[in-house]
Amino acid sequence: MLYDCAVIGGGPAGLNASLVLGRGRKEVILLDDDAPRNAVTQESHNFITRDGIEPVEFRKAAYADLKKYPGIVIQKERVTDINPADAVFHIQTEAGKNYEAKTIILSTGLKDVLPDIEGIHNFYGTSLFSCPFCDGWELKDTPLIFIADGAFSFHGVKMVSNWNKNIVICTNGKESLSPEQRDILAKKQIEVIDDEILRLQGENGQLKTVQFKNGKELHKEAGFISAKMEQAAPFAERLGLELTDMGGIKTDPYGRTSIKGIYAGGDNAAGPPQLVIAASEGSKAAIGVITDFVEETF
Ligand SMILES: Cc1cc2nc3c(=O)[nH]c(=O)nc-3n(C[C@H](O)[C@H](O)[C@H](O)COP(=O)(O)OP(=O)(O)OC[C@H]3O[C@@H](n4cnc5c(N)ncnc54)[C@H](O)[C@@H]3O)c2cc1C
Repeated sequence: MLYDCAVIGGGPAGLNASLVLGRGRKEVILLDDDAPRNAVTQESHNFITRDGIEPVEFRKAAYADLKKYPGIVIQKERVTDINPADAVFHIQTEAGKNYEAKTIILSTGLKDVLPDIEGIHNFYGTSLFSCPFCDGWELKDTPLIFIADGAFSFHGVKMVSNWNKNIVICTNGKESLSPEQRDILAKKQIEVIDDEILRLQGENGQLKTVQFKNGKELHKEAGFISAKMEQAAPFAERLGLELTDMGGIKTDPYGRTSIKGIYAGGDNAAGPPQLVIAASEGSKAAIGVITDFVEETF
């Protein structure tokens, strides 16, 4: 079967794109390997009517919406390759299956690359977070650690201070803050610890102690980190799509990329990374697909 559109990635962007395409009477295949960025969290915030929803529940509700439209097929498969040839996209999956589509929407999202600190993965998404818009409200009264081991650390601290000014910064021995930034932090009485971290300790996702290599310890139950974000899938690079300065896939307001027939939406294209923004991006890409079909065929 030749699908009108293959949506690659079924987070909020791909799910909303599929909804708009299915309602737009298109034959759609949604290919998703079910490893969204926010899988580590228990609650999602900032999506009106869905504030506080568990990511798993969000997905269940989305699948229920998609099931209403017969043109939508959902396959839980990891896409390994996409080859454009003769105006058709040939899609291969890890399961060894092949699919063909006239257009594709890339909505594969981003992946977080966390600082290389022992134990950090045990707490990411439960007591350590990267986005204050997502989790700042819940931590507004809790003394925080900010692990400033990476680029944009100062910006991250500034943003977190909107919710909570009780912050201790740990640079983990990295040169992540300039002398000017350190001066500003000192004036604001935000302590900076430059000792290297040995490990993070706690249990059941709850951070308790930061242990330093010099034997010192800091008791903190929550905090933020400056996580690096990368494309979760290699297709933008492999297909030769134009990227933005921030590393996202460059699109026009309807999700059209630099290559005809390829559309993109969600964290992997534009941000800021938020569920509601990703869903809207997916919607715009689907509207782009349908608009272009109409323009070509009417
Ligand atoms: C810890 C944490 C907490 C967050 N909390 C919030 C919050 O409270 N509120 C909020 O608005 N946002 C929150 N976010 C951000 C939010 O999760 C993202 O902005 C949103 O999920 C982006 O949606 P997306 O559809 O672009 O990508 P994703 O949700 O990442 O979905 C991408 C999908 O593509 C699939 N995929 C990737 N590669 C392939 C492939 N090769 N083949 C098949 N499928 C593939 C993945 O498995 C995944 O299902 C949080 C993020 C993190 C990390």
